[in-house]
Amino acid sequence: MNLKHRLDEHEVFLRVARVSERLGLETYVVGGYVRDLILGRPSKDIDFTCVGSGIELAQQVASTYEEHVPLSVFKNFGTAMLKLQDWELEFVGARKESYRLESRKPIVEDGTLLEDLERRDFTINAMAISLNPSNYGELIDPFDGLGDMKRKLIKTPLEPGITFSDDPLRMLRAVRFAAQLNFDIEADTFFALSENASRLQIISGERIIDELNKVILTSKPSYGFKLLFASRLLHEFFPELVELQGVDSVDDKSHKDNFYHTLQVLDNVCQFSADLWLRWAAILHDIAKPATKRFNPKVGWTFHGHEDKGARMTPGIFRRLKLPMDDRMKYVQKLVKLHLRPIALVKDEVTDSALRRLLFDAGDDIDDLMKLCRADITSKNNKKVQKYLDNFDKVEKKLLEVEEKDQVRNFQPPISGEEIMETFGISPSKIIGDIKEEIKEAILEGRIQNNPEEARNLMMKIALEKGLSPQSKS
Ligand code: ATP
Ligand code: MG
Repeated sequence: MNLKHRLDEHEVFLRVARVSERLGLETYVVGGYVRDLILGRPSKDIDFTCVGSGIELAQQVASTYEEHVPLSVFKNFGTAMLKLQDWELEFVGARKESYRLESRKPIVEDGTLLEDLERRDFTINAMAISLNPSNYGELIDPFDGLGDMKRKLIKTPLEPGITFSDDPLRMLRAVRFAAQLNFDIEADTFFALSENASRLQIISGERIIDELNKVILTSKPSYGFKLLFASRLLHEFFPELVELQGVDSVDDKSHKDNFYHTLQVLDNVCQFSADLWLRWAAILHDIAKPATKRFNPKVGWTFHGHEDKGARMTPGIFRRLKLPMDDRMKYVQKLVKLHLRPIALVKDEVTDSALRRLLFDAGDDIDDLMKLCRADITSKNNKKVQKYLDNFDKVEKKLLEVEEKDQVRNFQPPISGEEIMETFGISPSKIIGDIKEEIKEAILEGRIQNNPEEARNLMMKIALEKGLSPQSKS
């Protein structure tokens, strides 16, 4: 197969080829860029491998530009990176790797193109395009990556057990590529995943979560999660999710399988949003169901308080998985905690104060919460699904009406602490917080309107009860 016409789409390939020829090197485009070029997925990272010094090649390529192009050299790794607008070009000398059992660190030596390709993770990632004069544009595909693309298969170039044991991260990459490309994992490769799953323990949490997040960002993440579950890779780093799997029955009463339910909710939410953190909220929304599961002979299975317990579990899970412990965690925690609240508002006789409380608690995340709730409907009965969705439409309408009237979504106290202190001539103390809290409660309960006048009247009343009297103004 010759891909010369595809290389003509960017001037950089001919430029690198000329420099390479001048230096007497053999140079190839390799790895992900080749794969994505053939699959028609746009990609801005290009990896060049030459037989010789990648750093020198990069330096010489950089010097052919009239304008300055940023070049970073990583001597220890023998690599160099060039930035061309939004393109990133990486240059490296071909290498071979060998691993010893007692050490995870590979011994890296200069190698041939073939040796370089065979140390790569999958056949579809182990293809190269020649930039050399004799066969410019020719695809070099020693492991039939092209065939595996046609067959839609993730397969290791060498014996999979060795490939995975050398670098266990490749196991997660196998699932991630399968999920991103909607490929199957070839049978022997999959078998080696299950055989080597426990080796994942030597991989850092940061690298694991990078791959997992890529799975979560695919258009149908349930597929990737099912592969992780079936290979038992998931058991190694996310036991809480595994715990959700399974159905218990007592007296003919059984509950739904919360693992598959969660995956369905996750897929559903992906139709409404590309946001990673909303997707994480879907993953964790029922995470405390196993811990709160009870059987009551009268009502069957219950999971009382799973939303609160799930919210309490969220920071620990984030910390362990090396997810960010900042506002993003708080956002996920909030959605987990609130995910049952809109359902409670479906009833016709729902009070405005209940609506105001939800708006107050959810704040600007109310729209995302409603997306999560809609995604949480996983009935197989389409009529039921439609009925529940209609109900949520009604809830959203009521929320809008109340918000328009009362503006509690971004609640700002109508009376400031300063005003309270000034009015009663007192210094900062707990009583000020108490008064503000009572005013907020009164607004949410609907006893007063959300405006400074009514709030001020109430403030006077509360203060009197507490034995405060206003300062006379001199
Ligand atoms: P993406 O950029 O979408 O993550 P990619 O395949 O380009 O996909 P990179 O991490 O950029 O992935 O790696 C570039 C290439 O380096 C891969 O295509 C593969 O040939 C090789 N590679 C990367 N990581 C590994 C690994 N852990 N083991 C073996 N080969 C790897
Ligand atoms: Mg890449």
